[in-house]
Amino acid sequence: MRVPGVVFASRSLLPDPAADRSLEQVANVATLPGIVDASYAMPDLHWGYGFPIGGVAATDVEAGGVVSPGGVGFDISCGVRLLAADLGRDELRPHLDAVMDGLGAATPRGMGSGAVWQLTSRDELDAVLRGGSRYAVRRGFGVERDLDRCEDHGAVDEADPTQVSERAIERGARQVGSLGSGNHFLEVQAVEQVYDEPVAEAFGLRTGQVCVMIHCGSRGLGHQICTDHVRIMERVMDRHGIRVPDRQLACAPVASAEGRAYLGAMAAAANYARANRQLLAHAAEQIFRRQTGRRLDLVYDVSHNLAKIEEHVVAGVVGRLCVHRKGATRALPPGHPELPEDLRAVGQPVLIPGSMGTGSYVLTGVAGSPAWASTCHGAGRVRSRKQAVSAGHGTDPRGQLEAQDIAVRGASRRGLAEEMPSAYKDITAVVEAAEGAGLCRKVARLVPLGVVKG
Ligand code: 5GP
Ligand code: MN
Ligand code: MN
Repeated sequence: MRVPGVVFASRSLLPDPAADRSLEQVANVATLPGIVDASYAMPDLHWGYGFPIGGVAATDVEAGGVVSPGGVGFDISCGVRLLAADLGRDELRPHLDAVMDGLGAATPRGMGSGAVWQLTSRDELDAVLRGGSRYAVRRGFGVERDLDRCEDHGAVDEADPTQVSERAIERGARQVGSLGSGNHFLEVQAVEQVYDEPVAEAFGLRTGQVCVMIHCGSRGLGHQICTDHVRIMERVMDRHGIRVPDRQLACAPVASAEGRAYLGAMAAAANYARANRQLLAHAAEQIFRRQTGRRLDLVYDVSHNLAKIEEHVVAGVVGRLCVHRKGATRALPPGHPELPEDLRAVGQPVLIPGSMGTGSYVLTGVAGSPAWASTCHGAGRVRSRKQAVSAGHGTDPRGQLEAQDIAVRGASRRGLAEEMPSAYKDITAVVEAAEGAGLCRKVARLVPLGVVKG
């Protein structure tokens, strides 16, 4: 190990080493060339491909630091978007069924290829890969203000569609504006509790307010890009003199041809994911307008699977780092220059889904936090999908949710069983551990009213 491994968690949130090797993965990541300070893990950590999910690692670009596709994950720029309705929970009640029916019908989902956009020309897809949410807004799927509330103003500038394989294009072309399956969702929620009134107000949130949370990523396109570039890096690691303890940590120096190629393709997938969430949000907004006569305004859109070249102070000097966040969310503190003006004083909204049966959180970044301005991304799995299904054998997941007054649209019985709250850690314990470690601060807690599952 070149640096220590640092896990931010209470004892009860640590993975069981007999069933989950993520602690070993934290140690493996600490061997990567150019890694700075520590191999970090957030309290929602669990076993992933090479890197743990919940892992954060920064490498020094100028000192041979590497980029690793496994440090981003297969669902590149998977992330969360939160919209706030100009509507209270009680006002929604009489419309909830119609709203849920509308959202269920307007949200393409599942493994199939239904999507808001069915792109047939390479030019149009390239425009998505370069323009992300900006392109969707330019085409009328959203408003200019949305972009102020998106990480990177809706698109990463360094996208290089020439590094995206034909196979990836083929998989992505007909999926722009679709949820995907399993863990991805669109949820109608209500603000149950506010912990910090002034910050919540700046975010546009108040107690009792209705919100919509969307969780999805870059579909088959991102998956194929990860697969392609892991293969390329496996072949060239030797030539770059890189040895890793696990083949899944395949990597290349950020400054190498292979490193740059991956980052260009990754950025293209990130833009695809941003456009994807923009289109789904626009579809949801139209349903809300039609059924309730009210608007949905974007609170924020942020990814939790991404590598970014960022400037950070290391040993008193500003340096360029490649910060991998895999199942971890960027959390900019108040005063950060990348924040839009109306959020500058309060910090970045950090969106943390918990589970469809419990709740979710909105957090904000804090100054001087220890892991490159990052925090958790969710509750984190404690049971594999298969284990969750056998644990729920003989139960009725839909009935259990409906008994809690949570409307369900879409989702197979198996899909729901895989995603029941018992498959995840306790979201409140995770968020409190993250807050206790000085990674973020709680702003509000949201509870589910209805869920559209992938
Ligand atoms: P991941 O990106 O790792 O697949 O998922 C992020 C987090 O989303 C999970 O750790 C889990 O806490 C949360 N999650 C999964 N399904 C749902 C859902 O249906 N509703 C909500 N609110 N959260 C979910
Ligand atoms: Mn995802
Ligand atoms: Mn995700």
